[in-house]
Amino acid sequence: MTEETKSIHEFDYNLICEYYSCIERQGPGSVDMTVKALGFIDNLTDSSVIADIGCGTGGQTITLADNTSGTIMGVDLFPNFINILNTNVSDLNLEDRVKGIVGSMDDLMFRDKELDLIWCEGAIYNIGFERGIKEWRKYLKQGGFIAVSEATWFTKERPEVIDKFWNTEYPEIDTISVKVEQMYKAGYIPIATFVLPENCWIDNYFEPQVQVQESFLEKYQDNKTVEEFMANQRYEAELYSKYKEYYGYVFYIGKKI
Ligand code: SAH
Repeated sequence: MTEETKSIHEFDYNLICEYYSCIERQGPGSVDMTVKALGFIDNLTDSSVIADIGCGTGGQTITLADNTSGTIMGVDLFPNFINILNTNVSDLNLEDRVKGIVGSMDDLMFRDKELDLIWCEGAIYNIGFERGIKEWRKYLKQGGFIAVSEATWFTKERPEVIDKFWNTEYPEIDTISVKVEQMYKAGYIPIATFVLPENCWIDNYFEPQVQVQESFLEKYQDNKTVEEFMANQRYEAELYSKYKEYYGYVFYIGKKI
C-alpha cells in the first residue's frame, strides 16, 4: 500500500468515526426494543456477566445497564466510540459494573462459558450472522442467551433494485425462517423473533443524520470523499423509505442448549 492510499484510508476511517460519533446510535434500534428483547431473557441476576458486542457509542449498553443489575462489557473496534461510552458510563456513575473495551468481534477476550448473555445490535453483519452466532456460543454458559438484531428480508420476493443493493452490501441478508434455522444449527433454541418498527430506522437512525450531513458538507467543502459518503448515506435512507415493506431489522433471541 502506498503512503498516499494509506492516508486516504485513514481519512475514511476517521471520517466514518467522526460522522457516527455525532449521533447517539450507529444503527437502527430504540430503547423500547432493547427493553422488549431483554424481556425474553430470564436468567439474569446481580452476578450475571453480559457482553455487548459491536456496541458503538453504547446507546443500547446504557439501556442494558438501566434494566439489568449484572456486569456489562461493551466491545467495539473503534476506540473513539469506546471513549464516548466510557465517558457516559462515568457521567452516570456506572463504572462499577459497565465498561467499554476496544476489541474485535472475531477475536473476543472472553473465557469459555464466562457469559450469561451476549447482546449485539446492528453489528453482527461485520462477521456475518451465521459465523457470529456459531463462534460466540462457546463464551456462553449452558442456558445462556444471545440477542442479536440483524438485517432481514420480510418477503420471499422483492424488487430488483433493493435485492441488488443488499446483495452487494450484505449478501447474508435472508428471511426470518432461514435465520431461525441457522440458530437451531448453531446450537440455540430460538426463543423469540420480532421486527423492529419503522421509528427505529427513521426517527432514531436516519433523522439524526440529516443535521450531521449538513454540517459535514459545510465543514468539508469540495471534498469528494465526504460528498460521496454523504450521498451514500442519503441513498440508504431513500431506499428504506421506498422499500421498507421488504426488509428491516429483526431481533433474534436464542438460548444456548
Ligand atoms: N450497537 C450499536 C452500533 C451498531 S453499528 C448501535 O446499534 O447503535 C456497528 C458497530 O460495529 C460499529 O460501532 C462498528 O465500529 C462496530 N464494528 C465493526 N467491525 C467490528 C469488529 N470487527 N469488532 C467489533 N466491533 C466492530
